[in-house]
Amino acid sequence: MEVKDITRTYIYSDKELDRVEGEAIEALKAHCQQPIPDPDAWLDKELRRNILLTTVDATLNWARRSSLWPVICFPACCAFELIATEASRFDISRFGMEILRASPRQGDLMITAGTLTWKMAPQVRRIYDQMAEPKWVIAMGACAISGGIFASSYSVVPGYNRIIPVDVYVPGCPPRPEALLYGIRMLQNKIAKRTFL
Ligand code: SF4
Repeated sequence: MEVKDITRTYIYSDKELDRVEGEAIEALKAHCQQPIPDPDAWLDKELRRNILLTTVDATLNWARRSSLWPVICFPACCAFELIATEASRFDISRFGMEILRASPRQGDLMITAGTLTWKMAPQVRRIYDQMAEPKWVIAMGACAISGGIFASSYSVVPGYNRIIPVDVYVPGCPPRPEALLYGIRMLQNKIAKRTFL
């Protein structure tokens, strides 16, 4: 918008001055009927579109629960249902658990699928100790929870929780893949509630 600068106009009379002033005011009025938009308005729009406010807890928990890597540890028959859960029909990779890790240092989840004997217990404890922190354990099946039908045997550990801390228990003999997936979802909900304070 251009407004006539009357200070640069040589005026000979009061009448002429009034006329030139009036023209300048009318021109200004004609160009100033709408409010001038806020030049920074686009900034708010960009912020609304691109910035997501959250907490460190929520972000870390989201990342961790979405990328649980199970370590291989299944000493007995519940393993077959775990293998079925891994395969394409039930597809455990939907939950970010694409590959079973052969090395405990690359895993943060132990799914204890099967009976544990006292002879095997030190090895399971060693695998758990070598897993990356933070780490979680799902006790899968009656034997993993309490020793199952072998609970009174001299050679069977009456539950993995005698050897390592257990986060989620999935009952059954053996539990079906749907039950294991439900247990995994429970664990993910548990991880989502962690806090780092
Ligand atoms: S709970 Fe049943 S299926 Fe699982 S390891 Fe024990 S006996 Fe085998």
